[in-house]
Amino acid sequence: MKITDKVYALDSTRGNYAYIIYDDDVILIDTGRPGQGKGILKELNSMNIRPEDIKHILITHHDVDHIGNLALLEKVSDARIWASKEDIPYIIGDKNRPGIKRMVSILMRTGKPGNISTYPQKQEIEDIKIIPTPGHTPGHVCLLYEDVLLAGDLLRNSKGQLKPLASFMNDDETALRKSIDKIDQFSFKWVCPAHGEPIKIDNNRKQILRK
Ligand SMILES: [Zn+2]
Repeated sequence: MKITDKVYALDSTRGNYAYIIYDDDVILIDTGRPGQGKGILKELNSMNIRPEDIKHILITHHDVDHIGNLALLEKVSDARIWASKEDIPYIIGDKNRPGIKRMVSILMRTGKPGNISTYPQKQEIEDIKIIPTPGHTPGHVCLLYEDVLLAGDLLRNSKGQLKPLASFMNDDETALRKSIDKIDQFSFKWVCPAHGEPIKIDNNRKQILRK
């Protein structure tokens, strides 16, 4: 699904959208849940993107429905993989996810990616700004590209309103609300969440709720 000339939601990951930024380089944001890998590759192929065209894979946070095909995509591409230093231990299995997420990660096994880089200090990769937005997970990030905010699981689209996920899904509610305040400082027209459809808000912040 085309969002702007350069940003696409991958329909093969509907329910937990991964996104493609198609600029000079191809950049993948998140990788869907386990089992969606073949669909992702097929969809990329339909967009004339070969796996080896993917230059970077940026992970918003460690949840299984975002890293589900990271190991597969690492294998078939030469992409450099990036995530936050707080969330990498969960992705590579050095730390157990808390609460219900631990159960989910036992039921939905993910392969183990080999090589993940920590987001650079300057908080930029090519033209994408990395915005640390802890709360849903300790190292959650949002990504800002042109006028599109790739929101990960900071906010979901629930019937046209953007709100946080249910509190039992979040690591730290206070940090989460601070993170929502933080993204308010940035200008963007589109919000692309993982859960729920991308939404054009044209800087109308009334659609962003804090709970
Ligand atoms: Zn999610």
